[in-house]
Amino acid sequence: MDVVFVGAGPANLSSAYHLARLVNKHNRAVESGEREGKALGEIQIAVIEKGSAVGSHILSGAVMDPCGLAELIPDFVAQGAPLESEVKEDRFLYLTKKQAIRSPINPPPLNNHGYYIVSLNRLTAWLGEQCERAGVNIFPEFPGAEMLHDESDRVVGVRTGDKGIDKEGKRKPNFEPGVDLRAKVTVLGEGVRGSLTKKLIQRLGLDEGREPQVYSLGVKELWELPDDRYPAGRVTHTLGFPSDQWTYGGGWIYGMQYRILNLGYVTGLDYRDPLIDPHAEFQRFKTHPFVAKLLSGGKMIRYGAKAIAAGGWHAMPQMYADGVLIVGDSAGFLNAARLKGIHSAIKSGMLAAETIFEALLVDDFSAAKLQSYEERVRQSWITPELRRYRNFHAGFRHGRWLGMVSAGLQYITGGRAWGIFDRDHQKAGHEAMQKLSAYGYRGDDPVQRYPDLRFDGALTFNKVTDVYHAAVAHDEDQPAHLHVLDTNVCATRCAEEYGNPCERFCPAAVYEMADNGNPTVREGAGPRRHLQINFSNCVHCKTCDIMDPYQIINWVTPEGGGGPDYKGM
Ligand code: SF4
Repeated sequence: MDVVFVGAGPANLSSAYHLARLVNKHNRAVESGEREGKALGEIQIAVIEKGSAVGSHILSGAVMDPCGLAELIPDFVAQGAPLESEVKEDRFLYLTKKQAIRSPINPPPLNNHGYYIVSLNRLTAWLGEQCERAGVNIFPEFPGAEMLHDESDRVVGVRTGDKGIDKEGKRKPNFEPGVDLRAKVTVLGEGVRGSLTKKLIQRLGLDEGREPQVYSLGVKELWELPDDRYPAGRVTHTLGFPSDQWTYGGGWIYGMQYRILNLGYVTGLDYRDPLIDPHAEFQRFKTHPFVAKLLSGGKMIRYGAKAIAAGGWHAMPQMYADGVLIVGDSAGFLNAARLKGIHSAIKSGMLAAETIFEALLVDDFSAAKLQSYEERVRQSWITPELRRYRNFHAGFRHGRWLGMVSAGLQYITGGRAWGIFDRDHQKAGHEAMQKLSAYGYRGDDPVQRYPDLRFDGALTFNKVTDVYHAAVAHDEDQPAHLHVLDTNVCATRCAEEYGNPCERFCPAAVYEMADNGNPTVREGAGPRRHLQINFSNCVHCKTCDIMDPYQIINWVTPEGGGGPDYKGM
């Protein structure tokens, strides 16, 4: 291959499409004599994707600022881009335990008029079709398992995962070894906390001098409503209940076509209380009288969860190295204040494509050549947008109210922050988690945090029921793709210090501290529980890789095709 894109998300698909178009245009211009120089000939562009189809692992809110897509495909509406509805109405509510207080003004970053509510799963699948028409090769069910480096450490491609390995690590009859896809440039667009991106950043020190990335977790359901009580095109964002004031969080409710309501809740993955459970926070959100009334008589039809990179401008790594570029969510292009990242992901992909095109013309794929990608990002509209909100998330470290004050001041001053709001105080989210003892908790009983929460199967659902609605499938006879580097910590130190928070921060009930089932184990004779990993439930949200307080969980790609199926999400 000439160029390999790892991950079929909006950034990489936009990049592959734009690159194919630039190459075709150049070749035609040279052949017709309009442009001097050499034609590039046939450039082989491949996109590999771990999901069973393009879009199957893609999840977002989502309200899309169309500026990115309009640059990529100016007539995207006429071309049939799947759009749910144009945003016609914005609302911002503060939720107390019982009341929903509507703000007379919408916070300016959340002004969505003229934008589009989209199913990012459908939009991505559509972008995949555009790519294929432009001559890009797309390979679903091919996860990127390892980066390939040459002797001088430059990236020379990617190795895809093996297929047909059983849970003991032995080859099954259907064994197929992974493929080494060698390429002049490899583009990482794996989404948030990409497994290859994480390793590459560590290996090459691409985050040197940058702030640690911080994340949030979005948990979402789609509901079918019995009537037109919530019109398509209405966008509501909420603050307040159920988060406590020290926990970054907020809800969204978007009206889609055909009486489908799209709602979800974001919890900052820098929460302090180790008994917080982001899935439970979302379930509690639905019990608020305002939300419960909206959902009454409706039916939950889909579920999903995904981490969000919220650190912004200062947390973005160096996005180039020899033979490699990083785009979209993998590089942290999301604007957390606006809750928008699709537009900048598309734009980052386009800028990467322009950089690669130039590199192909001179046959130079060194870091020195590819660094013009960052220069392009700096010259584009992405930079003023991200810089304006560069201290947004950091301001919430001191609680909701100071965070709001800080956000307001930053909006007025173009993103400046002083003193306690300053980004210099930013630390990785998992470091914010406090020990059980700091909260006076005894043991690890989550009831202490959610005493009133019941899963009634009508309005509120437990994780297992929700996971069923994410249509998750993994072949159970394969090695677990969640690598816990030291399981001895789980039943001893972690149980005592944090009460095994993996059981709570995972929104898919993957981690379970199971009883050893040995009645002869006496109190004090050793751990009574052990970690059980129900990896087939995993919705690939990456929260465990991010939030584990000891940083000993490593998420790696499972066998190709496994994971959720976020159809229509
Ligand atoms: Fe998310 Fe990790 Fe749970 Fe999978 S195991 S659903 S990546 S938290």
